[in-house]
Amino acid sequence: MSDHERTFVMVKPDGVQRGLIGDIVSRFEDRGLKMVGGKFMQIDQELAEEHYGEHEDKPFFDGLVDFITSGPVFAMVWEGQDATRQVRTMMGETDPAESAPGTIRGDYGLDLGRNVIHGSDHEDEGANEREIELFFDEDELVDWDQIDAPWLYE
Ligand code: UDP
Repeated sequence: MSDHERTFVMVKPDGVQRGLIGDIVSRFEDRGLKMVGGKFMQIDQELAEEHYGEHEDKPFFDGLVDFITSGPVFAMVWEGQDATRQVRTMMGETDPAESAPGTIRGDYGLDLGRNVIHGSDHEDEGANEREIELFFDEDELVDWDQIDAPWLYE
């Protein structure tokens, strides 16, 4: 298993407005994941529709696009062993109401349409790479050595 798997993660507008960026970043840092990209940005209509394209025909699509473009987000790329699946586990279920306490959505959310965070789907092969490319240029990602790597990986 590669220590260099990269996954796309984003604090959604509700998480930004509620001041949760720092806490969410800390959780991934504490876990041992390495941030290799980070961008505070506003998503426009076109990017929102592309990012959530798989949900185009769903009844919640328009509301989702309105929500994700309603204020700034903090987009990130995190790297580490099994990063995509580990981030999803730390996020909890799609619906905060079904998410266990201790997970991000389980600790900070109550409602499906306000679930604080996005992370690439580990069951959708290539979703992480697709989403990283959509949000980041190659030169916005930083290769660096984490000094605690020998203590994180056998
Ligand atoms: N969503 C929604 N209503 C629904 C289902 C999903 O508002 O009935 C939103 C929710 O913000 C979710 C996003 O659409 O995070 C994408 O849905 P997906 O099933 O891909 O969930 P995720 O991968 O974010 O857990």
